[in-house]
Amino acid sequence: MTQTQYMEDVAQIMAIRARGSRPMALVRTYGCQQNVADGEKIKGQLEQMGFGFTEEEEEADFILFNTCAVREHAEDRVFGNVGALKNVKRRHPSLLVALCGCMMEQEHVAERIKKSFPYVNLVFGTHVIHKLPELLFRTLTDSRRVFERGDDSEDKQIVEGLPIHRDGTFRAWCTVMYGCDNFCSYCVVPYVRGRERSRSSQAILEEFTGLVRAGYKDITLLGQNVNSYGKHLQEDVNFAKLLRMLDEVEGNYRIRFMTSHPKDATRELIDTIAAGKHISHHLHLPFQSGNNRVLKEMNRGYTREKYLDLIRYAKEQIPDLSLTSDIIVGFPGETYEEFLDTVDLIRQVEFTSLYTFIYSPRVGTRAAKMEDPVPAEEKSKWFQELCAEQEKIAARRCASMIGTVQRVLVEEQNAKTGLLAGRTDGNIVVDFPGAPALIGTFADVNITEARNWILKGVLA
Ligand code: SF4
Repeated sequence: MTQTQYMEDVAQIMAIRARGSRPMALVRTYGCQQNVADGEKIKGQLEQMGFGFTEEEEEADFILFNTCAVREHAEDRVFGNVGALKNVKRRHPSLLVALCGCMMEQEHVAERIKKSFPYVNLVFGTHVIHKLPELLFRTLTDSRRVFERGDDSEDKQIVEGLPIHRDGTFRAWCTVMYGCDNFCSYCVVPYVRGRERSRSSQAILEEFTGLVRAGYKDITLLGQNVNSYGKHLQEDVNFAKLLRMLDEVEGNYRIRFMTSHPKDATRELIDTIAAGKHISHHLHLPFQSGNNRVLKEMNRGYTREKYLDLIRYAKEQIPDLSLTSDIIVGFPGETYEEFLDTVDLIRQVEFTSLYTFIYSPRVGTRAAKMEDPVPAEEKSKWFQELCAEQEKIAARRCASMIGTVQRVLVEEQNAKTGLLAGRTDGNIVVDFPGAPALIGTFADVNITEARNWILKGVLA
């Protein structure tokens, strides 16, 4: 049977179970943008099977948690929330409960779900999202619970043409590649999302053009490592070329992309951003540590000097470039002196903002087996020290924008203050007074004030 036939069968079964009302699904996504994009594909398929969507557990006929395995904290939250569903299921015995996403690609997690959460009906991994209709059909027609994690062939394939239920009306995601080949020693992604595989540039161009025509204004190209886009394709393309191709699409929009890896980011990429018509002057380039020994232990494939050299070039070519990064504090064996190299690097680069995390061990990774003598309280102090330094840097950077005019994509109205809020090209939040009709459009805003990392202004 094809997935389309399964869809029709599931739609019929669910219509009977819902007794004439529309069956409702609650889909909750945890973690990164790639997961959010997967969640939209899951919702797209559910919609075609007749489901509507709700945020209320009590209203739902089907609850699905799309999980994240990158940090321990996110995993704990998922287990806590799955545990809380036990009572919901007791009140609504016909409720279907499903778990998917990166956590479910890990053997030990699937085993724990099997043993400790008997009311979970369906568990599936990241490689078989396109089989959701079939998996739901099996769950509905078989008395056994369904566990499906995909095999080697599914690890390598890309399924095009899945329906997408986009949650945003002016911001959208467009996946350009899946998986990762880098095996950073702390990271679980290559194990749970498989090896790198890129979509054809034609497929991306079609989706991207459709988004621009549909009125999307802020389109983020997604991949675990976008700079290695195209490596395994037959066509002669790389990420910079792809960006140039998309930038030619006529329309009023901006392009963002994430995540870039410093090992693969090139001067060609910087030149492409500098020359682009629609490409945001924003580069998210995670450096993780400012110390070369730690970088080597992390298996990152670049040095502090190489990173700083690229940043120097980028700042020369794009003076208003906004830089952001990810940092891990307290990698196993990191000393305070080595941590200070990270503090020094953020001072040199002057990032607009940072996503800083205390190291959290992931089962199955090389780093999880390393000696980790520094106590958690000590790492927490380092973390606070880094955040305090970054706050000063961000405040300085934001203050330097007072008096400039920024093009802002207006996103929402603050219910308390009544002010509109939007984001600059460099992804900095700006609050300003204006009519709600501006939401979803670009507005030129004169920056009058900076409060830490938030700007305030008036319409120019
Ligand atoms: S580049 Fe490194 S940190 Fe990023 S997804 Fe790949 S293995 Fe993980």
